[in-house]
Amino acid sequence: MDLASYADLAIELVNTHDSQADKGRDFEVLRELLVIRSRLGGRVAHRDLDAMRELRAQLRAVFVSAVAGDEEDAIDRLNSLLMHHPVHPQLSGHDGRPWHLHLNEGGSVQDRYAAWAAMGLAVKVSDRGLDRLGICRADGCERVFFDTTANKSQRYCSDRCAGRPSSVAAAHHPARTSARAAIETAVPAQRGAAQAGGRKTEIREGGQ
Ligand SMILES: [Zn+2]
Repeated sequence: MDLASYADLAIELVNTHDSQADKGRDFEVLRELLVIRSRLGGRVAHRDLDAMRELRAQLRAVFVSAVAGDEEDAIDRLNSLLMHHPVHPQLSGHDGRPWHLHLNEGGSVQDRYAAWAAMGLAVKVSDRGLDRLGICRADGCERVFFDTTANKSQRYCSDRCAGRPSSVAAAHHPARTSARAAIETAVPAQRGAAQAGGRKTEIREGGQ
């Protein structure tokens, strides 16, 4: 199992954020993300979508701190997510395949998504480095990415953003600033081991 590939879940979730979308539209997008990820299966409850929004803000905060060069804060936040959303690996041998590892088969859709995304991002950061996390510098774009270029030169989320005329003049990266402001309101101070430990128990109980 390629754990690092689960980092895509984190990036896909963060990139569902649209500051122009109302809550109803946002829920539709999040539900679609969970349904498309068919391996997650299961029923999507309203509270799962609320939790997904919270998870999204927490994951985005990791990217914002990393891009701002605040390594300690980014790692604290990622470690906190790992504690909140523990992984429960299980060996599985379905469909005639050899024994292989699955992560978190139990719990709500949101619990599983959170555990997979946090683990994937952590593995990716430990493999390739925190400075690989990026936020698009194009005007008005808030999308995040994992920079896979040889010389860590990725500035935009896509060719489309790189080719936009406005992106050339985006020297002050307003998108990044607004993303940070959004996090500071959405994620007050979701940090600290004691807090994370308490929440962990809560999630386990809820997941049974
Ligand atoms: Zn972009």
